[in-house]
Amino acid sequence: MKRVICPGSFDPVTNGHLDIFTRASKMFDEIIVAVFHNPIKEKSMFTMTERVGMLKDCTRDIPNIKVDCFSGLLHEYVRLQDSNIVLRGLRALTDFEYEFQRALMIKRIDPDIETIFMMTNTDYSYLSSTGVREILAFGGSVKDLVPECIEEKLKEKFKTIKV
Ligand code: ADP
Repeated sequence: MKRVICPGSFDPVTNGHLDIFTRASKMFDEIIVAVFHNPIKEKSMFTMTERVGMLKDCTRDIPNIKVDCFSGLLHEYVRLQDSNIVLRGLRALTDFEYEFQRALMIKRIDPDIETIFMMTNTDYSYLSSTGVREILAFGGSVKDLVPECIEEKLKEKFKTIKV
């Protein structure tokens, strides 16, 4: 069975992420979308539980996807899930440098783990969770940027956040 791990912060999930999951679901037997705590990134807007909940909501129509969360080293998680494939999305050149280093780092730690990349859909090449958070923080609309089923949740959350 080909099981692939899609790790990320997903703070929050965007249509760019969902596009990658949907395309990958046709290529692999099982996809595990794993929300990771990334200590390099600034404090997250959404809790792990909220991020997992939103991912579950918007992937419920994709039968071979599971959503999980993890705090620790990616290669350990990949092995725990009995996989050796990590899938990441690639947008512009700016993603490349970071992803390149990350993939080689994992390879050095565990040479049997392969990181593969899927090119963004041109419709979402500009789209990032950071951009979505900025719009939310100023009360703007994130329609067409995030899955429709989580738009309301995002608006609700915004009401509780002071900027
Ligand atoms: P991380 O903190 O691990 O970078 P993100 O949630 O920002 O987590 O991104 C998770 C993955 O999704 C990364 O591989 C990222 O490059 C990819 N990604 C993010 N936005 C898009 C997009 N619009 N199109 C394609 N891939 C994307």
